[in-house]
Amino acid sequence: MDKRKNKVGKIFKAPRGTQDYLPEKATLLYRLDQLAAEKFEKAGYRRIVTPTFEETGLFQRSIGESSDIVRKEMYTFEDRKGRSLTLRPEATAPVVRAYIERNLQAEIQPVKLYYMGPMYRYERPQAGRYREFWQLGIEAIGSSAALIDAEVIVILMQYLDELGLKEITLYLGSMGDDNCRVDYAGQLKGYLESRLDSFCEDCNERIRFNPLRVFDCKKEPCKQQLKEAPKLIDHLCNECSEHFENIKRLLKVAGVDFVIDPTLVRGFDYYTRTTFEVKSPLLGSQDALGGGGRYDRLVEQYGGPDSPAIGFALGIERLILALEKEGVKTKVENEIGLFIVAIDESTQEAAFKLLIELRNIGFSVEMDYLSRSLRAQMKLADKYGARYVIIIGPDELKRDEARIKDMQTSSEKNIDMSETASYLLKKK
Ligand SMILES: [Zn+2]
Ligand SMILES: [Zn+2]
Repeated sequence: MDKRKNKVGKIFKAPRGTQDYLPEKATLLYRLDQLAAEKFEKAGYRRIVTPTFEETGLFQRSIGESSDIVRKEMYTFEDRKGRSLTLRPEATAPVVRAYIERNLQAEIQPVKLYYMGPMYRYERPQAGRYREFWQLGIEAIGSSAALIDAEVIVILMQYLDELGLKEITLYLGSMGDDNCRVDYAGQLKGYLESRLDSFCEDCNERIRFNPLRVFDCKKEPCKQQLKEAPKLIDHLCNECSEHFENIKRLLKVAGVDFVIDPTLVRGFDYYTRTTFEVKSPLLGSQDALGGGGRYDRLVEQYGGPDSPAIGFALGIERLILALEKEGVKTKVENEIGLFIVAIDESTQEAAFKLLIELRNIGFSVEMDYLSRSLRAQMKLADKYGARYVIIIGPDELKRDEARIKDMQTSSEKNIDMSETASYLLKKK
């Protein structure tokens, strides 16, 4: 009989495309969040937390009915009252919804926000791609100035730099605005329709729904065909062109390197002007760590005031993968400074009391919870990497003392129980 089987006869597994963040990785996850909070808050960004699910229509309208996400990848369900809800596939639409609903336009503009949390897309799981995945992102709503585009990009690149990533490249593009894009889309469609057979089935569908999306295709033959296609970046109107030039100038001022990518057309309908992406060559075919862009019409599209905006989202799983591939130290150790050994049950209470006292004054302290032998407890202390071990036996307890062992020098010393804390503080 398989002894792993429980009484019900079924061993549960996490759903496909999800993962458990076990302690070491979970600690890293929140360290990444912590570091982002420090950096972003210094730049005036404030945290926002929105629900993990929203009304389905919110995403249909923002991401666009024709996008792969809305057509195939959303986790949509009906609740008990028959309302259609969707697990958020991204956070920009929820943040914009909150901006309008909670009247953030009454605050100082631009409103600068950041978030981190899980997102959901029904995609084929592969390296660095999950159905539940974490994103860290920024949204700055209420300014169209190139200054804020540059700021958002600089913050992203400085964050990645601080983490120790070296082999990453920032790609920069522009999608123009309604002014220049409509003309261009017509030209592109003409070009694409003259060679429909050369494109894959997905692209044929894209050409029908939204020709700009062909640039999302990862298939080599399609990419080849697109080399000769007209590029939006060559058809920008004067205002868009000037905006783009200003960003390039400001990035240079900030010392941020970039590569212009004329095919950088992001998959969402709502993007205007600036688009950017950060890639790592070490990540294989899923090489984008994250990216973002400007979405000047989205707030208005949701019935809010005219509030041009820009943001980025960083995929945490890919980020961790990139850190690992570059050999950046990601192991986060749980540091245990002290270990208290209770030699037998009669000393456990005194040991527990000391444990609480020492934790209260800031030490990280562990003890044994399985009534192990003295020998086994010493081994355990060693495994935890404890610097000092405090041993409390019946004899010590009678004299109201504790024996302190320095694990580095192996020297031992008996001291008054009441002075253990001050003694250890001096050693700290
Ligand atoms: Zn294709
Ligand atoms: Zn334009």
